Amino acid sequence: MPRADEIEVTVFGPGYGECIVIHIGSGKWVIVDSCLDDAGEPASISYLTKLGISIEDSVISVSASHWHDDHIKGLAKTVAACRSARLSLGAALTYSEFLAFLQVFEDQPVQKLDRGGTELLNCLKIVNETGRSIKPLSEDTLIFDFQPNALAHRRQVELRALSPSGQQFSDFLTRLKHFPAIIMGRTKGRIVEPSRNDLSVAMILTVGQQGVLLGADLEQVSDPKKSWQAVVDARKGKSPLSHLFKVPHHGSYNAHNDDVWIEMLDQSLQAVVTPWTRGGHRLPRESDLNRLRRLSSKCYLTSTKTIPKKRRYNAQILKQIKSAGVKFDSSIYSSGHVTFRWIPDSSSPSVGLFGGAVAI
Ligand SMILES: [Zn+2]
Repeated sequence: MPRADEIEVTVFGPGYGECIVIHIGSGKWVIVDSCLDDAGEPASISYLTKLGISIEDSVISVSASHWHDDHIKGLAKTVAACRSARLSLGAALTYSEFLAFLQVFEDQPVQKLDRGGTELLNCLKIVNETGRSIKPLSEDTLIFDFQPNALAHRRQVELRALSPSGQQFSDFLTRLKHFPAIIMGRTKGRIVEPSRNDLSVAMILTVGQQGVLLGADLEQVSDPKKSWQAVVDARKGKSPLSHLFKVPHHGSYNAHNDDVWIEMLDQSLQAVVTPWTRGGHRLPRESDLNRLRRLSSKCYLTSTKTIPKKRRYNAQILKQIKSAGVKFDSSIYSSGHVTFRWIPDSSSPSVGLFGGAVAI
């Protein structure tokens, strides 16, 4: 359990999924994204419960970086448990996410949503029922801040969104004009949706003179007004640099931007990456790990141990899979997390590795 004057950043990455839990000081906690632990519970809630934290009172903010399955499993349950927390999410929406808003706030008839839209719908229902509001995020949106005298470590703390960019938001507004016709079933397939990764919300946590950069799944695109290049350009000359980096998109080269490492990160940087696996594809690749080793002073992977995937299915389901002739990946990374803890401006983080997490 961190002391009142300590910052703690814990990154959970069971192999498919990602969640970040932060103690910002004086018993106040923040959650970004959601994944499930080996028991099928939101990793953030299990962790805080184990620490004996009053989740209802102590979690002040819950954010969704984007609505891909690996970042939102258990998010509605998390929003329900964190009754004092404000929910924040990216302001640029996909069609399914837009429908979730319509269904909750305009009482529109239910249309089929994808999994991300469904989880958003469930989160919005809880927010609505509990009289809370959401905070829409785009570049440079302040999610919350605390003045130095408000917290035991006497440092100013703020969490700020860095994306989606203004261009990505105005592209969303342009797409929006087609949505009513799609709802009426008239222009199906006419709009091209951006990837949810491209709309995802990167953030910077500032504590005194130190920063923590949370890269979400934000990928690199060719348009400099979008994604990482827009983030770098907007942050040029701004302090602080970050000494801790949650590497974007599970270490994938698609999310790498040299300027992020040059302009936004401290030389003493510690990096942490969560693995991802689906259908035989895995991130990070060996080449990604080599790049991350080269660029950071220390780098950690939240999980490497594998457990048989068949443990996750009962005998009946396994029989059905076998008889259908479906091949599937026989192993999956087990749950793991990395914890960084430090006193602001006075020490480098101490690191704890749990459940198969390793230094790479
Ligand atoms: Zn992801």
